Amino acid sequence: MRRETTSSIPRRSRVRALLVLWTCAICAGANAAPKGLDIYFLDVEGGAATLLVTSRGESLLIDSGWKRDDLRDAKRIHDAATRLAGLKQIDHYVTTHFHTDHFGSITQLVPLIPVIKFYDHALMQESQDYDKKLYPEYMKVAEGKRQILKAGETIPLKSGKTPLRVICVVSDGRPVLAPVGTGAGVNPFCDGAAAKEEDRSDNAKSIGLLISYGDFEFLNLGDLTWNVEHQLVCPDNLLGRVDLFMVTHHGSDTSNNPVLVKAVQPTVSIMCNGARKAGSLQSIALLKSLPSLKAAYQLHRNVQISEAENTDRRLIANWDEGCQGQFIKVSVSSNGHTYSVRIGEKGKPQQFHSE
Ligand SMILES: [Zn+2]
Repeated sequence: MRRETTSSIPRRSRVRALLVLWTCAICAGANAAPKGLDIYFLDVEGGAATLLVTSRGESLLIDSGWKRDDLRDAKRIHDAATRLAGLKQIDHYVTTHFHTDHFGSITQLVPLIPVIKFYDHALMQESQDYDKKLYPEYMKVAEGKRQILKAGETIPLKSGKTPLRVICVVSDGRPVLAPVGTGAGVNPFCDGAAAKEEDRSDNAKSIGLLISYGDFEFLNLGDLTWNVEHQLVCPDNLLGRVDLFMVTHHGSDTSNNPVLVKAVQPTVSIMCNGARKAGSLQSIALLKSLPSLKAAYQLHRNVQISEAENTDRRLIANWDEGCQGQFIKVSVSSNGHTYSVRIGEKGKPQQFHSE
């Protein structure tokens, strides 16, 4: 005899109901806050735009790529923020410095998604180097919501069980005065390190941020240049070592001073270069030479150098010059102990341990 089920609902209906629930859970999961910390390195073709989303669903956007008539970069940021991260607003937005490739699309992004708070390095004087056309437009959209961020100050993001801290390590050419992160001690690479001619551009004034989530450390220095990089790590290394390093200034060789790159000993690097912008031979070779480095990602293949001179083919998000704007995503686990890196939505994640 057929055994009676305990439920009065027919089996087929129950299976269907479970399937619907399961599918809904997946739909919701795609747009729910991450369990840990998610970081998207968006492709803005040789500019920079980095989006962080916390487990509380709070967000921080660092730079916003170029201004274009077709709104390419504003749309790429908006798509990542809304469709991938499920955001309704950008809580904090940082302009590292006032060059077109870093704050270009912010005035185009604001009509697409609300931006609550703006941070930058200074009130600019006419004699300084900055995008004179974009700057007044930026000041208009940021009016009443803007704050000058100084070295040593933090951007408040709510933290769950795992401590999360966003600290400004350099701003307007001035580095922090005391060690941050895991920073401490004399940097052995400073002996005999050469300086370069003083950089009077706004690159040297870039805001640099160190983001700590439990044991995980992420360093983003915008387009900071050689001599100021030196000040951050000499004679003492104020930054300590980091897990993830956004290669400075798109991988230009006027930045990425070896005294800094060697001192911070990154495990993973991500370079926001363009197909024909930066991604210099020297920077790629320096990264490859680091004993600590396990994976050197590039947003683009540098088409002006050979395949062998680029990083490993599998770590390049956009191979062809006419690309689809593939991003790189870093997902840090809820306790900060591990993180994974993958290219685009479908790339195979590579796992790493926070040091
Ligand atoms: Zn730049």
